[in-house]
Amino acid sequence: MKDDRLSRILLDRAEIQERIRTLGEQISLEMRGLTPCIMPILDGGMIFTSDLIRQISLPITLIPIKASSYGKERISSGRLDLTWGVSPLVRDQDILLVDDILDTGLTLTKLSSTLLESGARSVRTCVLLRKHHAAHLHSDYIGFEIPNEFVVGYGLDHAGQHRNLPDIRCLEIEEKA
Ligand code: 5GP
Ligand code: MG
Repeated sequence: MKDDRLSRILLDRAEIQERIRTLGEQISLEMRGLTPCIMPILDGGMIFTSDLIRQISLPITLIPIKASSYGKERISSGRLDLTWGVSPLVRDQDILLVDDILDTGLTLTKLSSTLLESGARSVRTCVLLRKHHAAHLHSDYIGFEIPNEFVVGYGLDHAGQHRNLPDIRCLEIEEKA
C-alpha cells in the first residue's frame, strides 16, 4: 500500500506571492502595447494564473486550455492530450501560456507549436517552477528554480489531491507494509 506524506515546505505563500508580483511587473513591461491572450494550462496552471493576471497591468483576454501528460502517475506519459481541443479564438493572438511547472518540456513544446499552427501570432511561456534537470529548457518567464523533487500544492496535484494547499511542498510516497 502507498501512503501520501507531505514533507517540508519548499516555497511558502508569501514568497510565491512576492515573486508573482515581480513577474507580473516584468510581463507588463515586456508585453506593453499588446493585449496578451493569457492561456492557463489546466488544471495545474489555474491557481498560478489567477494570481498572476491580477499583477499584470495590461488589457488581457483569457482562454484556458486543458492538457494532460501525467494521468495518475508521477512520471510523464510522454503523450499530451488536449482534452478540449484548441479554441479558434487563438488566431492572431499574442499568447502567454501559463503552466505550473517545467519538467520534461513536453507540454510547453507541443502546445507552443500547436498554437502557432492554429494561427496564433506569437507564443510566450511562463512557468511558476522549473526543475533543476530542465535547466536547459527555455521559458520566457520563470518564477523559481527548484530541485528534482515531486512537488504539490498551489495548483499542483498528486492523483487529483493537494491542489488547494497555499504553499508548495515536496511529496514523499511511503511504502506501507
Ligand atoms: P512537462 O510536460 O514539462 O513534463 O510537465 C508539465 C506537467 O507535468 C505540469 O503541468 C504538471 O502537471 C506535471 N508535473 C511535472 N512535474 C511535476 C511535479 O513535481 N509535481 C506535480 N504535481 N506535477 C508535475
Ligand atoms: Mg499539469
